Amino acid sequence: MIDIRKVSKWYGPVQVLNECSVRIDKSDVVVVCGPSGSGKSTLIKTVNALEPFQKGDIFVNGVQVNDPKTDLPKLRSRVGMVFQHFELFPHLSVTENLTIAQVKVLGRSQDEAKARGLKMLDRVGLMAHKDKFPGQLSGGQQQRVAIARALSMDPVVMLFDEPTSALDPEMVGEVLDVMVNLAKEGMTMMVVTHEMGFAKKVANRVIFMDVGGRLLEDCSKDEFFGNLDARQARTKDFLNKIL
Ligand code: ADP
Ligand code: MG
Repeated sequence: MIDIRKVSKWYGPVQVLNECSVRIDKSDVVVVCGPSGSGKSTLIKTVNALEPFQKGDIFVNGVQVNDPKTDLPKLRSRVGMVFQHFELFPHLSVTENLTIAQVKVLGRSQDEAKARGLKMLDRVGLMAHKDKFPGQLSGGQQQRVAIARALSMDPVVMLFDEPTSALDPEMVGEVLDVMVNLAKEGMTMMVVTHEMGFAKKVANRVIFMDVGGRLLEDCSKDEFFGNLDARQARTKDFLNKIL
C-alpha cells in the first residue's frame, strides 16, 4: 500500500532523511517513534507529497508520488492525514467541516457528503455535536472530528502525526480508542506516536528513527517490545526515557 524506497531529503546542507525505506501492506499498522528532530514528521509528509525529497521513490497504492505526472490532489484525497493540531475550519460547523472536501475535491453532492460525514461522526461517537463549531468542543473531540473528516474521504491509508501529543492527558484515551478501533477494522495506518500502549495493542510493526533521518529499526511489535536487549543502543536509550 505504501512503498518508501531509499528516500533522502536535505534542507540545504542538513540531511533530514537518510535513505529511508518502509513498506506498509494493506491493513498494516506501523508505529513510527524516535527523538524530536529525527525526521518523523518529514517522513510521514513525504507520503502524500506535502514534503518534496531529493532522492528515492514513494509509491502509494501503486501511484508514484514523486512522478511529476501524478495528480497530487487526487492522490492526497485518498490519503487521510491527521496532525497534532486538529486544523478544523473554526468558522464552519462540525457537519460543514466533514462535508466541504467531499464536495469540493471528490465532487459529491451535499446530501451524499452529509450522509457519509455523519456516518463517520457517529463512528467516532460524536453525532450529538454535529451542529456545533470546533471552538465549542474539547481538544479530544476536535481531534475525533478531524479523524471523522479524514475517514469521510474514503482513504486507502491513514497517516497520523502525533495525534494525541497536543491534548490534555484526560483526552488522550478517547482519541486512541478511536484509532484502536480503526486499526481493528483493518485500516492501513502509519502513526507517529510515543504512545507505546497503542503500539503494543495494535501495531504490526514499530519503526525507530534517529537524528539525521536514519531508520534504525523496523521490526515486528513482538520483536520490538519482547526482545529489548536486541535493540540498538539508541533505541534502548529512547525507550528508557519514555517507558
Ligand atoms: P520530528 O517530527 O521527528 O520531530 P521533523 O521531521 O519535524 O522531526 O524535523 C526533522 C529535521 O528537519 C529537524 O532537524 C528540523 O529542524 C528540520 N526541519 C524541519 N523543517 C525544516 C525547514 N522547513 N527548514 C529547515 N529545517 C527543517
Ligand atoms: Mg514531528
